[in-house]
Amino acid sequence: MKIAILPGDGIGPEIVAQAGRVLDKLKTEGLPVETTTVPLGGAAYDQYGDPYPAVTRDAVRAVDAILLGAVGGPQYDALPREKRPERGLLAIRKDLGLFGNLRPAILYPELAGASTLKPEVVSGLDIMIVRELTGDIYFGQPRGIHVNAEGEREGFNTMRYSESEIRRIAKVAFDIAMKRNKKLCSVDKANVLECTEFWKEIVTDVAKQYPEVALSHMYVDNAAMQLVRNPKQFDVIVTGNIFGDILSDEASMLSGSIGMLPSASLDAHNKGLYEPCHGSAPDIAGKNLANPLATILSLAMMMRYTFAREDLAKRIEGAVQTVLRKGYRTADIYEQGTEKVSCSVMGDAVVAVL
Ligand code: NAD
Repeated sequence: MKIAILPGDGIGPEIVAQAGRVLDKLKTEGLPVETTTVPLGGAAYDQYGDPYPAVTRDAVRAVDAILLGAVGGPQYDALPREKRPERGLLAIRKDLGLFGNLRPAILYPELAGASTLKPEVVSGLDIMIVRELTGDIYFGQPRGIHVNAEGEREGFNTMRYSESEIRRIAKVAFDIAMKRNKKLCSVDKANVLECTEFWKEIVTDVAKQYPEVALSHMYVDNAAMQLVRNPKQFDVIVTGNIFGDILSDEASMLSGSIGMLPSASLDAHNKGLYEPCHGSAPDIAGKNLANPLATILSLAMMMRYTFAREDLAKRIEGAVQTVLRKGYRTADIYEQGTEKVSCSVMGDAVVAVL
């Protein structure tokens, strides 16, 4: 198991260190893990003047899976766009062809009180959002800011999806739906955007290979509403890059804290980049306050999707749930009657349960 570790910026190094301890624990039991640590984002810019330098590119190309903390910070906001930390993240996704982003939104019953929604609406929630990650309006050409024919400045981007791009992400989503409750909702804006009308047509065609999966379609504005009205109606959602970006952040808040949610970005051969859904949280960086559970749960996803070790994934997820049941909480998920702990003490607790 060749794994590259990219701590990144802000709280990244603190949370990745705790996931690293979980990995070390499994290593002592004989798991054949080889790790290499390289910088990405602001940390890479500081060291090499580039958010995705050659040393990182070479390392991540050579491994099976990558564990990332988070990138970004206010000290980099004034840099030219191509030097900013977020560019490193877009570059690594594009370079490795990581087109399938899996973002579960799970609400552990122990944390039902941490959500801003009523407990009965969200308790026991378990949704998987499958977001296409390398196409759509975020990458479509032409794009830019120019002076138009009328002499006025305008900004423009292009929403594009090829048939093969839609087919491969649809296949990922149907495969996941087959392993879950065989229910898939494809989200589009087919009433207004031709690009997503085409998306709907292709997803419907892929569905013929999965007769057991119940496929439904929903407009993105309705999906945004349904996610807060009755989120438990969903099982697996598949959508394009921009809609998925927004809906998965919305879904993450159903579960109380962004500090609890892992993610995976996969290529066509299950090579993957695993990272928490949250950012680098500069406001709490360096204070040992961050919640490391999203990163530890990202490691569990790595065991499941890249290494096909469902047993280890379940064991790590089970350890996290046990720790929550015992009442340990970092500040972001703290409620009265529970025990407030630091990032490293949360890591201690997970390793101890393991
Ligand atoms: P953020 O997710 O970093 O923080 C939002 C809020 O959530 C903050 O109050 C933060 O303290 C809190 N939070 C986040 N993760 C937490 C954790 N593990 N434990 C406890 N609290 C946590 O989002 P932001 O403030 O909008 O962005 C900060 C920086 O992160 C920016 O530079 C942004 O570009 C970057 N960012 C990076 C990624 C990524 O690396 N994938 C994603 C989003 C944002």
